[in-house]
Amino acid sequence: LPEQEAFDIEYWLLEEAKLQRMPKPKSLAGHIALVTGGAGGIGLATAKRLATEGANIVLMDIDEEALAVAKNELSNEFGKDCAASIKMDVTQEEDVVRAVNYCALAFGGLDIVVSNAGIASSAPLEETSLELWNKNQSILSTGYFLVAREAFSLLKQQNMGGNMVFIASKNGLVASANASAYCVAKAAEIQLSRCVALEGAPLGIRSNVVNPDAVLRGSKIWTGKWKEERASAYQLSTDDLEEHYRQRSMLKLNVLPEDIAEAIYFFASDASAKSTGNILNVDAGHAPSFTR
Ligand code: NAD
Repeated sequence: LPEQEAFDIEYWLLEEAKLQRMPKPKSLAGHIALVTGGAGGIGLATAKRLATEGANIVLMDIDEEALAVAKNELSNEFGKDCAASIKMDVTQEEDVVRAVNYCALAFGGLDIVVSNAGIASSAPLEETSLELWNKNQSILSTGYFLVAREAFSLLKQQNMGGNMVFIASKNGLVASANASAYCVAKAAEIQLSRCVALEGAPLGIRSNVVNPDAVLRGSKIWTGKWKEERASAYQLSTDDLEEHYRQRSMLKLNVLPEDIAEAIYFFASDASAKSTGNILNVDAGHAPSFTR
């Protein structure tokens, strides 16, 4: 090679090597995400996934103590200004209004809404009290509605589009034994997301659903009565439940909070720019028309 050409190639290779070593731009840098139920489980795993991509996070939860621990974890991992938190109850209209407005106060706006706060509590139909029924509808269906309405208003006002991700459940699509109150509330969340997608599309607001299957590890709802209820519905011992869910999946894998967080990141980012009104089941391949 002529000397100049060899020099140019070497120079170009060095520049390429430099580029390779440079940190990749973060896909959610400058984005602000609210995560309800962000104090633990799927919510906290999601907050971490979004923060990894550069998003600022507003954690919202009813559990003040867990909220403080979660915010601390995020600050330690992603820097002290990465996250803010606010105690709130998704069933209380004034709490939701205050919490959504807090996103503007803390970070100047809102781009991503992860509606995730929830419970799991159910019973056979004949044992489902009106109180249990209403509890499911108010935290899940109504709570998701209030968050969606307030966040939609803020996104509309900003006129910069946005992404809403609803964490529903496979039980919103398929019937599950002894869980009618929960199944109906989860079905409502799925329909709400589709309606938001329709109204939001002209405004550049997308809305999608992630349906986890059983995520036992790291989830508080599996430390309570729900585990016993599910085990009893399947006539198993609580110790056998995780293996039961693993065996019934096509991939023979258990689903973890981080797996759900990855799917939420997909819908919260431009990777899914042309998806709205959609549902992604994260269930290691288990999609029959009933849950067993
Ligand atoms: P989790 O119990 O670990 O987290 C739920 C969070 O929501 C908790 O931090 C809790 O304090 C908060 N919360 C409860 N009621 C609230 C209220 N009224 N206002 C504000 N915050 C409230 O459970 P998880 O497994 O991480 O569940 C997250 C979501 O995923 C829920 O909507 C749940 O129904 C859904 N889901 C979970 C599973 C699973 O197997 N873990 C399966 C399907 C769907």
